[in-house]
Amino acid sequence: MTPGFLALGGNQGDRRASLQAALDALPIHGVTPTACSSAYATAAVGGPPGQPDYLNACVRIETAHSPLALLEACKAIERALGRPEPGEPGYVPHGPRPVDLDVLLLGRAAFAHPRLTIPHAALTQRRFVLVPLLELDFALELPDGTRLADALARLGVDEDVRRAGPPLVV
Ligand code: ADP
Ligand code: MG
Repeated sequence: MTPGFLALGGNQGDRRASLQAALDALPIHGVTPTACSSAYATAAVGGPPGQPDYLNACVRIETAHSPLALLEACKAIERALGRPEPGEPGYVPHGPRPVDLDVLLLGRAAFAHPRLTIPHAALTQRRFVLVPLLELDFALELPDGTRLADALARLGVDEDVRRAGPPLVV
């Protein structure tokens, strides 16, 4: 089993219920959640203007999956919870969605593939990911040794990330 971290986000419908449903679906897809951060409300980044705020959280996991199998598990859960895929009606790049599930870290190795980059390419740029992630483990480092707490300290504080509820139930 390899430890890892996923980012959960959603900005449609009952956001907390959708994030909880995504977390609850992980074990059916071969992924064991072991801890979850508090929920944070954050303004949408990119995509069409005027989107509702997101609710975000990070989940610590253990899995025997390969990196690509873990991505497939995340995509299966997004689909099951109502996110249209590219090419389907209702799909908007970076648009509103009930649930977005991203792979942040898997073990201590980097992974590069046209469909999957680990660590997540935007990890060190996004306060709404770093804040919940560091709540789970303040000592986390990237495979290259970068301390994520240092990456957060280097970011400005213009991106609004507000604690908006207790951890989801693991
Ligand atoms: P975003 O998460 O940036 O809002 P999407 O969820 O639509 O956008 O993801 C777009 C694509 O990003 C996915 O289809 C996936 O193949 C790719 N991708 C690359 N690296 C990752 C990662 N670490 N976690 C999740 N998706 C990733
Ligand atoms: Mg995504």
